[in-house]
Amino acid sequence: MATMKRSVVRPLAALLLAATLLAVAGCASGPKTGSARERIAATPALNLKSYRFDPKQPIAERIQKAPAFVLKFLQQTDGRDDYAAYELTDAEIALTIEYLDLLPAWFDAMLKERLVAIYFIENFTGAAMTHLVLDKADKVHAFIAINPAMLRTGLSEWMTSREASCFSGASTAAGAPAVFVDCGTSYKALLYALAHECSHVADYMYHYTPYTEPAIKELGLGVAETPFVKNIWLDYAKPEERADFPRRADITFYGTGGGPKIPFGSAADLYRGLSNSPFPSLYAAQNWAEDFAECFTWYFFTDRLDLPYKVGIRSGGTVEVEYEPIYWSRVVHRFPQLDPVVQDKRK
Ligand SMILES: [Zn+2]
Repeated sequence: MATMKRSVVRPLAALLLAATLLAVAGCASGPKTGSARERIAATPALNLKSYRFDPKQPIAERIQKAPAFVLKFLQQTDGRDDYAAYELTDAEIALTIEYLDLLPAWFDAMLKERLVAIYFIENFTGAAMTHLVLDKADKVHAFIAINPAMLRTGLSEWMTSREASCFSGASTAAGAPAVFVDCGTSYKALLYALAHECSHVADYMYHYTPYTEPAIKELGLGVAETPFVKNIWLDYAKPEERADFPRRADITFYGTGGGPKIPFGSAADLYRGLSNSPFPSLYAAQNWAEDFAECFTWYFFTDRLDLPYKVGIRSGGTVEVEYEPIYWSRVVHRFPQLDPVVQDKRK
């Protein structure tokens, strides 16, 4: 999620929720109403001056323990009281640095300029999220929050469970039909979190989409249509009719947004609709920010890291439905726009 592209993240919604929760809690630190600018000004976690930010600091040193004001913000945003700063072991820090080194080499300079920190948050909702942080000149920076379960869970395992969270009523009996996502067994889910979230940071900085979250537009920091969204998105979360498909608006993950709203029995129909769309995943079909992050991540994984990417439905050992979304014709059509972004793999 940058918020958030959270991978559960809805930035403006999150800000509004945070404001609402502040009001409910009777906390005096935030206004109940007001513009995005007023809400951000009242929230220390969203102001660069709250951090010790040094653009010369190596990215490896920005893997940090979350400060109390960030934890407070995340808990208010997600309506939780059990978040805690997770401290990585030396091996986990080494894995995080190893995975960051797999990203396109040009990400280094981009992240050094705009990424405030990477925090790991115990009990975090979903996989990860990215949130904007503004400096006094309105330059958009960001921090990334990651669920430490990503360090321990296999990539295919996590993506499968995320996909399953979109559907209700699936049988849990052994051998019963279930959705799957197969990206091989080489990596932990952390690789997905870093690729997806860092691409949100790139979007904040370079505007592949008009605005990564609606608050950016409200702040007057968005841009008009971009090539990436042209002919696909009419607005942030509204695709053009020819890009849309039945029940797209009911797609949710991790039990957020009132979900799951789609019965498992409709999964095959949903994937058929998705397979005729320009989106490489159900997650991408939510809004243009997630579309960019997913297009980047899956194209980078398949084209540069040579990972498999298959999505479908299996009953026991029998594959009932299987797709390779990165080869869908309308997804392939977007590769020329993605090539400059995923280029310059280090290895
Ligand atoms: Zn995201």
